[in-house]
Amino acid sequence: MSKNSGMSEEKSLNFIEEIIEADLATGKHQSITTRFPPEPNGYLHIGHAKSICLNFGLANKYGGSTNLRFDDTNPVTEDTEYVESIKEDVRWLGFEWSKELYASDYFDQLYALAMQLVEKGLAYVDDSTSEEIATQKGTPTHPGTRNQFAQRTVEENKQLFLDMKAGKYPDGAKVLRVKIDMASPNMLLRDPIIYRIKHAHHHRTADAWCVYPMYDFAHGQSDSIEKITHSICTLEFVPHRDLYDWCINQLGTFPSKQYEFARLNMTYTVMSKRKLLQLVNEHLVNGWDDPRMSTISGMRRRGYPAAAIREFCDRIGVAKRENLIDVGLLEFCVRENLNKTAQRRMVVFNPLKLVITNFDNELEMLSSENNPEDENGGAREMPFCKELFIEQEDFMEVAPKKYFRLAPGQMVRLKSAYIIKCDEVIKDANGNITEVHCTYIPESRSGSDSSGIHVKGTLHWVSAKHAIQAEVRLYDRLFKVEDVANAEGDFKDHINPDSLQIISNAYAEPALAKDTMDQQFQFLRKGYFVIDKESNSTKLVFNRTVTLKDAWAKEVKKG
Ligand code: ATP
Ligand code: MG
Repeated sequence: MSKNSGMSEEKSLNFIEEIIEADLATGKHQSITTRFPPEPNGYLHIGHAKSICLNFGLANKYGGSTNLRFDDTNPVTEDTEYVESIKEDVRWLGFEWSKELYASDYFDQLYALAMQLVEKGLAYVDDSTSEEIATQKGTPTHPGTRNQFAQRTVEENKQLFLDMKAGKYPDGAKVLRVKIDMASPNMLLRDPIIYRIKHAHHHRTADAWCVYPMYDFAHGQSDSIEKITHSICTLEFVPHRDLYDWCINQLGTFPSKQYEFARLNMTYTVMSKRKLLQLVNEHLVNGWDDPRMSTISGMRRRGYPAAAIREFCDRIGVAKRENLIDVGLLEFCVRENLNKTAQRRMVVFNPLKLVITNFDNELEMLSSENNPEDENGGAREMPFCKELFIEQEDFMEVAPKKYFRLAPGQMVRLKSAYIIKCDEVIKDANGNITEVHCTYIPESRSGSDSSGIHVKGTLHWVSAKHAIQAEVRLYDRLFKVEDVANAEGDFKDHINPDSLQIISNAYAEPALAKDTMDQQFQFLRKGYFVIDKESNSTKLVFNRTVTLKDAWAKEVKKG
């Protein structure tokens, strides 16, 4: 766990906050502008949530603003479906951008800026194949060599760059490169490509363009166009910073600065959009918002509160070195949040019929508190009848010592109801238990117990007649190994085959029929749950958000 896991006011500044405070103190910037720059080629994941919380969080803290910029310079992989999902996810996380922008809106400006480099003699059109360009680049220990195309005149380059744009050449026939240093120890400065030809339909600009800017050029210049003061990205962009600065210096555009932090990696999951897309396309999960996915939409569907995700991002802090965060910390944040907010309900997963032989009323309405952690949480009514369901696993015909649940001759309390005693076990012809018969102690009613009897076990239950049938989906980790990205073989070899268990005939207390989609529940003794979008008027479906305790930690210890 990061050292920054205390309350936010006790926290020391992270390195980016230190930089920002210094920039504001020296007057380098009057205010700050950050951006969150997703490429719309997939759904956002928890790693993006870290970046969102950081970028929007800094702007909020220092009174600046954050742009949502779609980095849509690659026409092939991008789609409007992704744009919509990204906006929904950012909003759901609790952030509002000041401007919604698209790098593709800058295609004219970016092309003009590239043309400026041509005119300054700083960029040339190269006809080499990508293989030739790669070999001519040399190696980190051997300098590269320039080819004859680098000798082209400014006039020639201008015309060729215009012709590239006009569609005179097929894909890959030519590229535009900037002339920097073929001997630079930074391979990315060895005359990097900044434009390529791609005759492809773009989800926003349609067929207007057949040349597209490369990431480094487009990203840095988009930052400048938007006057981004602090352009925050992940560590793999450290080697790109020199080119970022070079373009800004040569073009004299707004001096945005890039700062890098360690990307979030988390145990038992994958976080690359490429891999997530594979899971979706190969039907290894049920879509991008499958509750087992590391996507924000998956976590939302699973019932993770946005506030818990924000808290998690806050606790892990901003690191400068790669690390692997225990998913248990995220689950801890989820539990901590839900313990305070979730409505308590009773649901029996594997029913055993229990008959209260001395209960002669038709029905008694009992009251059960919605949330003991919340004074103002109120209570709900629960019907209590002669026939109830309890969990099969809460009964043993031959019980060991210290078994505090129900067994012949033994007493337990039914939550928010009465103390009962098991008198008789009823079996069918094959010897299977079909019912247990009990008597209840009328004076032991919860809230007004005058029985003087103390029992150690409290069971959840539902009224057999009033219970509603429900499907319950229990999720476990999607992968069996901690560090999936670095595990041997293909990442899909490590998928946990038991990551979804469906209980199709659970019995839920009737209050759940009236509850709504966005409510979160604690099913007593079972975990935290949320209604799934596949619920309808005839069938309730619940997703288990998280167990009550970290069952996995115990499993690992057991070996
Ligand atoms: P992926 O590898 O999952 O496809 P990406 O970096 O290609 O991710 P982008 O859409 O380009 O995805 O990312 C948008 C922003 O989110 C970038 O600033 C990127 O640095 C940041 N980001 C992506 N993944 C993580 C992560 N795991 N932790 C922190 N920030 C991340
Ligand atoms: Mg990317």
